[in-house]
Amino acid sequence: MVQVTERPPASVVVQPWNEHNQALAHNVHPSDWVNPAPADRYNLVVIGGGTAGLVTAVGAAGLGAKVALVERDLMGGDCLNTGCVPSKALIRAARAWADVRDAEEYGVEAPPGSKVNFPAVMERMRRLRAGISTNDSVWRFRELGVDVFLGEGRFSGSDTVEVAGKTLRYKKAVIATGARAAAPPIPGLAEAGYLTNETVFSLTELPRRLGVIGAGPIGCELAQAFARFGSQVYLVEALHGILPNEDRDAAQIVLQSLLRDGIMLLCCGSDLKVSKEEGDKRLTVDSHGQHYDIPVDEILVGVGRRPNVEGLDLDAVGVAVEKTGVKVNDRLQTTNPRIYAAGDICSPYKFTHTADFQARIVIQNALFFGRAKASALTIPWCTYTDPEIAHVGLYERDAKTRGIRIKTFVQELKDVDRAILDGETEGLVKVHLQEGTDKILGATVVARHAGEMLPELTLAMTHGLGLGKIASTIHPYPTQAEAIRKLGDAYNRTRLTPFVKGLFHRWLAWTR
Ligand SMILES: Cc1cc2nc3c(=O)[nH]c(=O)nc-3n(C[C@H](O)[C@H](O)[C@H](O)COP(=O)(O)OP(=O)(O)OC[C@H]3O[C@@H](n4cnc5c(N)ncnc54)[C@H](O)[C@@H]3O)c2cc1C
Repeated sequence: MVQVTERPPASVVVQPWNEHNQALAHNVHPSDWVNPAPADRYNLVVIGGGTAGLVTAVGAAGLGAKVALVERDLMGGDCLNTGCVPSKALIRAARAWADVRDAEEYGVEAPPGSKVNFPAVMERMRRLRAGISTNDSVWRFRELGVDVFLGEGRFSGSDTVEVAGKTLRYKKAVIATGARAAAPPIPGLAEAGYLTNETVFSLTELPRRLGVIGAGPIGCELAQAFARFGSQVYLVEALHGILPNEDRDAAQIVLQSLLRDGIMLLCCGSDLKVSKEEGDKRLTVDSHGQHYDIPVDEILVGVGRRPNVEGLDLDAVGVAVEKTGVKVNDRLQTTNPRIYAAGDICSPYKFTHTADFQARIVIQNALFFGRAKASALTIPWCTYTDPEIAHVGLYERDAKTRGIRIKTFVQELKDVDRAILDGETEGLVKVHLQEGTDKILGATVVARHAGEMLPELTLAMTHGLGLGKIASTIHPYPTQAEAIRKLGDAYNRTRLTPFVKGLFHRWLAWTR
């Protein structure tokens, strides 16, 4: 039991204030933290202690650089505190419930009266998050040689950053201040009140009726988790269907799963308004020619991210800002050559692993005159619905827009033994090859653990291995990843032209 009784600063969102959140705060924003005396000058001053900032700071310090890291709120940023970590803990609990619910299909009788204990689910998440937070803790970073400053950072001169009354002089600086939830301008939303990723993980009671705005990755993941916990979920989306950026066949499979979980989808939604009457919030929306007026207990906004650029005084140091964040070139250098940026603050790919790999690029380029390019990264992603949907490289529509001729191979999981035995046949692997070659240009996987299957294809793309090479790689039987090898076989069969077939035929007849 960690002995921290003092509450952290008001900006710190770690509610409820219990044992696990005390442990979290002790690691990521201890109230008794004393900022160190600044060094004369730093090789690198990093503003923002999320994934991008942490990886930059620890990587640079490990190479011998003198590094200061500035964090105004919680070390670990979104990923640890209000993003990947808490959401995946909830999703795991929701899967556990789905397995109990569907147990009969497997000949298993679940104990009568099995149900989700929502407060216990949330406590598990808080306990696990607090445990993981030791990796990102101020104490660990101090031990690794990083000068950690808690407070709001801002540029105060051509080579200085100001934090909590201290001036940090730098040779190079890195902006890694990330992004935050930004609610869309929906009439009545602000007045009625709503949850975002910054507050939803502080819930202690399950909302009986939950409106979720936005059927992108965050909206779909949390909508499904809450539906499985027992909320009646209304998922409102302006476009058609869900996960509008994903492959349509793939998204359709996930949609069927969400509908089975009892989610009501209101897509092609227009004229969305929110109001509050006698304690109830109401969502009114037009969807597919019908008008809906739905009372809900809570509204979760799952769309819209705004870059954290305010208060940094970027103008004063000549760092240009665009709508999407800090403007960078391919080497992640801002319009001030001494200042770099990494992660959600500058990247269109807002993922933890992108922040991590951009940070590595920044270390090379800022400290060692490196020439590493962000555009050279092959970036996969995964949405952790059940089934998951994971993707890397081009979609069919990208190939079309760029005039690239592709040949697409699809393996449905219904024909893969392990998926049949697992009762997880709703899924597919789709691979796009450059026409006439086995070069992989893009791939989508829908499977219960699609995120674990995709790296084989990402590896192949990153290192120039063709689908033919995957065909000659032995996969253990039975695994769902065999679906990928089967695509390799399918590709190899296309190489068996009538002429080659004829030659084989004649040779075999002759040697009979
Ligand atoms: C609900 C949700 C689920 C997600 N799930 C996944 C997932 O499963 N997988 C995945 O890859 N990605 C996921 N993401 C995205 C992922 O969390 C982000 O891409 C990642 O956290 C970006 O890291 P970052 O370091 O760029 O920014 P952040 O994590 O936002 O860190 C920026 C830090 O800078 C600090 N800061 C800002 N301004 C200042 C200032 N002026 N002075 C000092 N400090 C400052 C902030 O307090 C913050 O700690 C999810 C996001 C959300 C919201």
